[in-house]
Amino acid sequence: MNVLVINCGSSSLKYQLINTDSEEVLAKGLCERIGIDGGMHTYQKGGSDKKKTDVEMPDHTKAVSLVLEALTDPDDGVIDSLSSIDAVGHRIVHGGEKFSASVLIDDEVLKAIEECNDLAPLHNPANLIGVNSCRELMPEVPMVAVFDTAFHQTMPQKAYLYGIPYKYYRKYKVRRYGFHGTSHEYVAKRTAEFLGKDIKDMKIIVCHLGNGASVSAVKEGICVDTSMGLTPLEGLIMGTRSGDLDPAILDYIADKENLTLKEILTILNKKSGVLGLSDGTSSDFRDLNEAAAAGNELAAGALETYAYRVAKYIGAYAAAMNGVDAITFTAGVGENNVAAREQICSYLTYLGTELDKEKNSVRGEETVISKDGSKVRLLVIPTDEEMSIARQTVALC
Ligand code: AMP
Repeated sequence: MNVLVINCGSSSLKYQLINTDSEEVLAKGLCERIGIDGGMHTYQKGGSDKKKTDVEMPDHTKAVSLVLEALTDPDDGVIDSLSSIDAVGHRIVHGGEKFSASVLIDDEVLKAIEECNDLAPLHNPANLIGVNSCRELMPEVPMVAVFDTAFHQTMPQKAYLYGIPYKYYRKYKVRRYGFHGTSHEYVAKRTAEFLGKDIKDMKIIVCHLGNGASVSAVKEGICVDTSMGLTPLEGLIMGTRSGDLDPAILDYIADKENLTLKEILTILNKKSGVLGLSDGTSSDFRDLNEAAAAGNELAAGALETYAYRVAKYIGAYAAAMNGVDAITFTAGVGENNVAAREQICSYLTYLGTELDKEKNSVRGEETVISKDGSKVRLLVIPTDEEMSIARQTVALC
């Protein structure tokens, strides 16, 4: 089957066309600045160089039609006609409590997704626009919604409830949902497969460390806790997001700086994390590594604070599962940042982990980075959310 995987943001659209029999990525690309002047389409046929085209895209339907034109182009395309697209898999950020698994999209499902818009006002409406544009242009093709929150729906109540009046959960569903679920699920499964074990016999901690970052505890194949909450702001210190903090800080800063709650939330989402901690040096870990090496103490401190927070979550989740067999690193930082992994693992020896520094000098490869005989295995498993969405799409079509 050929599955088109779509990840639609408010002004961007990322896509991959995957042959799910061979698991080959036939083509992929990105439409940027949709609805804004200066639109750009980057297209890459499997194995070829990227081709960038300046093109205005007043709306998402125009972007999808450009994608379909590129995929079927007689010179650069990878399929003869649209009938070669057998299904479309859409990444949807928030499925609320309604969706604990991927679903085939119909009008009823679309309505239920729309009802979750309140929970992810920046993401879900954009995701839905992507679905509607694809349905308009490919009305006969089956489409599947794959939710970022679905994998975490197995969390027990003690993990997902906040210590606030229960009525806010009853009335507004205020609770922990968790995100990056497609990645956590994929990486936990690959961890067990890679170690040749049955996931049902394992306790795994997955550290998805990218620009956004989250940790999850996966016991016997089921997610029992995760660090992101009602929104992706909770948990780890991230590129630009604060992660956990004392909620009273909001009122304190609002008062001192004469800011509204919304303005403070923007600061917590966009100007905090390692960017904020390093006093604006960078949100990118490569820049921070360089700055720290060049003697920038705030950059070094930001990296240290970041690693300490990850290690604390790993400790918490080892406690939540009463043990851990494997700790796996994934996403941009987790897959590539040797120094960050070493810094995090320096806190974990009490669990019986032994990092092998030589094996740890790896980037973007599936591998074990702990010493032979380490009681708890440490791994790097590159995430592949698109492949996971494609597989889940096939399973439902
Ligand atoms: P993601 O959101 O998963 O794309 O991850 C983005 C983050 O990964 C950025 O902070 C990058 O600095 C970091 N990253 C990517 N490649 C490397 C690398 N080779 N070394 C260090 N950090 C990296």
